[in-house]
Amino acid sequence: MTTHRIAVLPGDGIGQEVTEQAVRVLRAVGKISGASFEFEQALVGGAAIDATGHPLPPATLELCKKAHAILFGAVGGPKWENVPHEVRAERGLLAIRKELDLYANLRPATCFSMLVDASPLKRSVVEGTDIMVIRELTGGLYYGEPRGVERFADGGARAVNTMVYTTREIERVARMGFEVARKRRKHLTSVDKNNVLVVSQLWREVVTRVAKDYPDVTLDHILVDNCAMALVHKPTQFDTIVTENTFGDILSDEAAILAGSMGMLPSASLGGTVGLYEPVHGTAPDIAGKGIANPIAAILSAAMLLRYSLNMLREADRIEKAVQRVLEQGHRTKDIAGPNDKVLGTKEMGDLIVQHVERG
Ligand code: NAD
Repeated sequence: MTTHRIAVLPGDGIGQEVTEQAVRVLRAVGKISGASFEFEQALVGGAAIDATGHPLPPATLELCKKAHAILFGAVGGPKWENVPHEVRAERGLLAIRKELDLYANLRPATCFSMLVDASPLKRSVVEGTDIMVIRELTGGLYYGEPRGVERFADGGARAVNTMVYTTREIERVARMGFEVARKRRKHLTSVDKNNVLVVSQLWREVVTRVAKDYPDVTLDHILVDNCAMALVHKPTQFDTIVTENTFGDILSDEAAILAGSMGMLPSASLGGTVGLYEPVHGTAPDIAGKGIANPIAAILSAAMLLRYSLNMLREADRIEKAVQRVLEQGHRTKDIAGPNDKVLGTKEMGDLIVQHVERG
């Protein structure tokens, strides 16, 4: 039997609290499915700075490279805000993404029916929303050259960033889009700004060519401005979205708001041989250490780990159903509770989800 080696990097603040619950849920999956998991924990972010002076110690990177998947919490916090830029806690995460060539970020925005009223949009608009946004993560404006600021003698300045993509970079994230759409409702929407940007014209050309290898997936193209409107006007029209780095940064946050709370949003970063799974939220210094953080984003990240790194689709479904049932039964952490709800802590929510996973 294969042993799935999971590198566990809880990081800082509530990262530590919620990751613990996600590991418990994976252990429960191991118990009921017979799959064998080996969890090894390592330091990252502020915790790593305190212990070693570096946000991504070599031992942590080595562990990540040898693992089948990485379960990540969150990094950063006020304690490490004034350290030099190169050793900031957040650099730990950016360095892992770069080292492991994680070029695609997957962020689902699912509106759970029992939490519809937590969404700022009307029930009639948002109910049934189930979108996966795939954002290209290692190219475009964030890394393109030339970049920089030129200062003039008269006190003025000129700043440049460059949006650049190669065929290879577009093709690999497009393929990721089609593969993910295949595991969902087989509808991929590619987002660009084809009417203005030449980069987008190449993007559209390459995505259209790649589509020929996926005849079972329906592809359409939409301009980024239209997409931004459609996401709040008729989000249910989308299944899987694929787009470049900057557009994806903005659209995935817009899609996130449909789901209601930060504590509900998982993510996956894929590309190289090892996938990284983490809640979208940060370390929440305002509630860290109180045992009240919502562990669902971390637990749903563990479900994504099973689906995308280990191909354990049934087990991933089982976790998602367990979360759904617990919510249906009215159990809530503070961030998603209504005025009359009884509020659970992080561990109590974890206990209930573990029980439902075990019961099936
Ligand atoms: P945050 O996501 O940590 O918190 C924003 C708000 O949402 C807070 O009020 C917090 O209490 C709440 N919240 C977040 N997750 C929650 C959960 N699971 N349950 C209940 N409530 C939750 O964002 P921030 O306050 O902007 O950032 C705090 C720190 O986290 C900063 O140092 C930032 O750099 C870091 N950060 C790290 C990551 C990461 O590691 N991927 C992502 C975002 C922010």
